[in-house]
Amino acid sequence: MIKYYPIELHSHTIHSDGDFKVFELEKYMKKFGYKGAFLTDHNTTSGYSEVSDREFLFPGIEWSTFYGHLTILGEDKNLDFTLVDKNNLEEILINLKKKYNIVAGAAHPGIISGEICPGCDFTFNIKDWNNLDYIEISNGDDAYMVYWTEESYKFWIDKLKKGVRIPAVSGRDLHRPNPYNSIFTLTMIGVENEFSKIEVIEGIRKGRTYITLGPEIVLKNLEFGKEIKSGRNNISYKINKLNILGIKPQLSEIEKMKIRFINNEKIIEEKNIKWDSEDFVGLDLNSGYLRVEIVSDLREVKNMKILISSPIYVK
Ligand SMILES: [Zn+2]
Ligand SMILES: [Zn+2]
Repeated sequence: MIKYYPIELHSHTIHSDGDFKVFELEKYMKKFGYKGAFLTDHNTTSGYSEVSDREFLFPGIEWSTFYGHLTILGEDKNLDFTLVDKNNLEEILINLKKKYNIVAGAAHPGIISGEICPGCDFTFNIKDWNNLDYIEISNGDDAYMVYWTEESYKFWIDKLKKGVRIPAVSGRDLHRPNPYNSIFTLTMIGVENEFSKIEVIEGIRKGRTYITLGPEIVLKNLEFGKEIKSGRNNISYKINKLNILGIKPQLSEIEKMKIRFINNEKIIEEKNIKWDSEDFVGLDLNSGYLRVEIVSDLREVKNMKILISSPIYVK
């Protein structure tokens, strides 16, 4: 049985450029309502020795280089970022994965590099994107307000169109508590068996992820990241409100929603949906991939993407 949990994948403390002490970050994230989270300070895992609840806060690192930022999740060793250059990232990751149970992906690839954030775009030479495990398509709080969310989303879609099998995740890139009336993006990860770091890593590796501003989607007899056959497929789904304290205010603002089924970037079905409703669609699928989006008017944005799933691959 696979269950999807809200997991934060990107956070910083005073061990790099955050304001949180490690215990403050832990407390903040527990109160927000995450099931688990990863600590990803820039180029160091030194903060991990201070973590009190290791069933909740898992180890990670954000490699911050001149060619891009990369979150690596699952290991508390100080994985050496100084060996990385523009052309050898895949080779280094392949070797690290032989030694450690980790997943690694591109952080905020849509940011334009400049004085404020040097190396924040993603310019590594990657021959085969299947050597990376995910792309962070939404970064920070109020991600819908910044241009790089759309750019990161396009970056991901471009890889999917080329046949790469790679899931999407979000990262709040937490550095300090957000004092504003923000809209937060959650990454939901499908976990098999009992909840643990190993199961979360496996969920990401298998592509069982979606990002959401509030709705929970439950597919019947199907998972994101899985492979199905082309041709006629009946897909049953249920839409619920996620019961997470930190997103209660934004959830109350979501009213009318539409669900879209997208096959190789073509919307093949669009339906109005309501909270706590069950429905199904019959889809004629071409080989490639199927993904799901839910859109809604929210704040000043019309048809905001409030849920984006990772692909289901179609043979
Ligand atoms: Zn970064
Ligand atoms: Zn970061």
